[in-house]
Amino acid sequence: MNMAPFLPFTRPDIDEETIAGVVEVLRSGWLTTGPMARKFEDTLSEFFGGRTVRAFNSGTVTMEVALRMLGIGEGHEVITTPLSWVATANVVLTVGARPVFVDIDPVTRNIDASRIEAAITPRTRAILPVHLAGLPCDLDRIHAIAQQHGLRVIEDAAQAIGSGWNGRRVGSFGDYASFSFHPNKNATSIEGGCLVLPPDADVHMAEKLRLQGVVRSGLDGMEVDVVGGKANLTDVAARVGLGQLARLTEFNERRHALARRYFELFDQTAVAARGVELPVRDFAATNWHMFQIVLPADIRRAAFMQALKDRGIGTGVHYPAIHLFALYRRLGWKDGDFPHAERVGRSIVTLPLFPAMADGDVERVVSAVDAILRTSP
Ligand SMILES: *Cc1c(COP(=O)(O)O)cnc(C)c1O
Repeated sequence: MNMAPFLPFTRPDIDEETIAGVVEVLRSGWLTTGPMARKFEDTLSEFFGGRTVRAFNSGTVTMEVALRMLGIGEGHEVITTPLSWVATANVVLTVGARPVFVDIDPVTRNIDASRIEAAITPRTRAILPVHLAGLPCDLDRIHAIAQQHGLRVIEDAAQAIGSGWNGRRVGSFGDYASFSFHPNKNATSIEGGCLVLPPDADVHMAEKLRLQGVVRSGLDGMEVDVVGGKANLTDVAARVGLGQLARLTEFNERRHALARRYFELFDQTAVAARGVELPVRDFAATNWHMFQIVLPADIRRAAFMQALKDRGIGTGVHYPAIHLFALYRRLGWKDGDFPHAERVGRSIVTLPLFPAMADGDVERVVSAVDAILRTSP
C-alpha cells in the first residue's frame, strides 16, 4: 500500500561515538559494574542537582529497592495510579504490600491528586505517582498531602527524564525518584534504571539491596546482613547511558518540536470534532516521552492500529488499566472500579515520536489518522 519505510512508534538513537565507546569497554577487560557505572552515577547526580543517585539494571528494581528501604511490606498500602506500565503496581505486590489505586484525571491521564486523600488509611505508607508520557503529576499537591499524612513519595519517573516541574527538573527535588533507561525511554542504557535518594536514605542499604546484601571491607573482608538482589548495572550498559545523557537535551528538544508539529497538523483536521482526545499541550514541563491520543468509543482500537500498520505506521498501547489484569482481578479489583483509567486504557494509542523522526513523518501519521477516522463508520 505504501512504499515508505515502516515507521515504528519509537526507536533508540545510538551514535557512532557511543558504539565506539562500547567497543572500548568490551576490550577493556572489565565488563560488569566498574568505572563506567560509577561515571554514569556521577553524571546522573550532576544532572539531578547533586542529589545522591545509584544506578541499577532496571527502572523496576529501583522502585522495589525504594519500597524496601522504607520498610514497606506486608500489611502496608501504597497509593498509585491504575494507568501505568504494570511494573508500577507489581513492585508493590513484590514487597508484600497492597497497591491502592486512585483513578486518573482523564485530561492529564495522571493520578488525580484531588482523590488521593480519600484513599489514605492507617496502613498507607507511600504515594507512588507516575509521570505518564513524561507529563509531571501535580508534585506540589502530592508532596503536601504526603507531608500532612506522614507518607513517603516514590516518583515513578521512568518516562520523565528531563521533565520539569515549576522550573525544577523532575528528580532534582522531592523524596525518592525512579528512572528507567529501557530502549523505549528518552535516554537508554539498553536495560537500566536509576534511583535518586533523599538525604535521610542509607546509601549503603541501596547498594546492599542492589547486590546480594554484600559489604566488602579491606582486601579479604565480606559480610552479608540483609537479603539483596542482583540488580547492578554493567559498564557496557553504563557506557551506552553516558552517550545518551550527553544528548538528552538535543533529544528532548527534537521531541518537543515534533509534538508541536503534531498539534499544528491535527488542528488542521477534523480529528477533534471526531471525538479524538489529544494530549495536554504542554511545552514547559513534559519531556514528550510519548504522543498519545485517545480514540472515541465508536472506533475499535485494534482496527485503527491495523489500518495504520497497513500504511506502514507503528503504534503502541501504553497502557491497559492495571487493575483489570487477571492477577489484579484475582486480588479483588473489577470493571467499573476506576472508570477514567478503564476508558483511557481501552482507547489510548501511542503515535510515533522519537528524535530521529523527520517532520515529514509527522505529516504522514496525521494524514493517515485523519483518513482512517474519515472512513471509519
Ligand atoms: C519503563 C517503565 C518502568 C519500568 O522500567 P524498566 O526499566 O523496564 O524496568 C516503570 N514504570 C513506567 C511508567 C515505565 O514506563
